[in-house]
Amino acid sequence: EVAVLRLGHRPGRDDRMTTHVGLTARALGADRVILPENATQSRETVRDITERFGGPFEAELTDSPYGLVRDWDGRVVHLTMYGQEVQTVEAEIRTAHREAPILVVVGAEKVPFDVYEAADWNVGVTNQPHSEVAGLAVFLDRLLEGEELEREWEEADRRVIPRSTGKRVEPADDAGDTDRGSNGR
Ligand code: SAM
Repeated sequence: EVAVLRLGHRPGRDDRMTTHVGLTARALGADRVILPENATQSRETVRDITERFGGPFEAELTDSPYGLVRDWDGRVVHLTMYGQEVQTVEAEIRTAHREAPILVVVGAEKVPFDVYEAADWNVGVTNQPHSEVAGLAVFLDRLLEGEELEREWEEADRRVIPRSTGKRVEPADDAGDTDRGSNGR
């Protein structure tokens, strides 16, 4: 299992970024995202996309993000520009992932030092400042070695047909899509 925890959410200012953490977690192979309790709008958006484009993927809220990090029954990866280089630790983390659920933690503003200490790995996707969305995307791709790109989506209403030009979206109609094929969305 791979879960992504978003720490911190300033309503208004962080709405898009928090939503994009959720959408990126879903698209790039995590099983669920856990958002701060005030990020209800972002959770709704992620759930709505999952309803339309498929899953399985869970979007949850927590009122105790630090408790979740502390009590996680598995291994914790905190993404930070100050951490060890992803290319140095990725193999070790992949090995751990075969045996235990991984919690990937990303911040918004300053992350308390407790999180650095609670993490099994503090991982930098480069040691340059950038974005939680970019860091998460590269990290998940390294963890899952590109297999996330081949994923089949279940219970989707619709599916994008890849095109060299233009946009094509069709109702999803494969075996996994038994009960939501034609609700008009
Ligand atoms: N300045 C804040 C601090 O010192 O904790 C971080 C702000 S940054 C905009 C928000 C989040 O993006 C960070 O908490 C981290 O999870 C992620 N991030 C930014 N740069 C990163 C990097 N080079 N590698 C991994 N994650 C990064």
